Amino acid sequence: APGLYIVATPIGNLGDLTPRAAAVLSAADVIAVEDSRVTAGLLRHIGVKRVMIPYHDHNAESVRPGLIERMGREVVALVSDAGTPLISDPGYKLVREARAAGHLVATIPGACAAVSALTLAGLPTDRFFFLGFLPTKAKARADAIVEVAGVRATLVLYESGPRLAALLAALAEGLGEREAAVAREITKKFEECVTGTLAGLAAHYADAPPPKGEIVVVVGPPGEAPPASEEDADAALAEALTRLPVSKA
Ligand code: SAM
Repeated sequence: APGLYIVATPIGNLGDLTPRAAAVLSAADVIAVEDSRVTAGLLRHIGVKRVMIPYHDHNAESVRPGLIERMGREVVALVSDAGTPLISDPGYKLVREARAAGHLVATIPGACAAVSALTLAGLPTDRFFFLGFLPTKAKARADAIVEVAGVRATLVLYESGPRLAALLAALAEGLGEREAAVAREITKKFEECVTGTLAGLAAHYADAPPPKGEIVVVVGPPGEAPPASEEDADAALAEALTRLPVSKA
């Protein structure tokens, strides 16, 4: 059916392209892409040729109306270079306007680096806060970290290799002692997940050459005494009572 299809693509291992994603890409009248060279590689892998229209931060405003118009009568797919579109990638305005125009909007889920890193890190996953890329300037980055220091959730950040050491140092400085993980090259040949404290990881990466490839940093929530349950409170009270001087009448 005509409409907008948000299609997740692999974050490294081409085997992670889902059959549904391949089917939608094969059937698409047009694919909105970040970088047509990257998506051309993926299409070659599944043996299809499709019309691609670059859609990125620098041309989105001018390209969007044409895409919205085509969705009324054609299958328009949106992909990014890797992973799930809209997650630290363009697309939310396209979805919003497609919806406003009354078009079908469907998602074809698949790989996402943030969620994949959470599954590797071994840190709490019940609450997580996705920060994407922090600002690259030191002051703006420190401010962004202070802003989330009180958030009682695991934090997930994207970063590039050359900036990793500086990011970890700023996180250690702004968040204090926390467990963390650096997940690198997820689903690729050199996939690794290095865990430790923020300070330990900051020291480790400060001494090493900048790691190659793509990186997700996961930071555990701030430490806290576990909330006392009612049973705990009853037990504590009973225990305290045994230590009270007993008055003998
Ligand atoms: N939309 C993508 C997704 O669903 O994850 C993210 C796009 S964002 C522009 C690119 C960043 O995602 C990289 O700089 C890196 O932080 C992270 N990333 C993407 N692929 C990765 C991988 N295979 N391993 C680790 N991090 C990855």
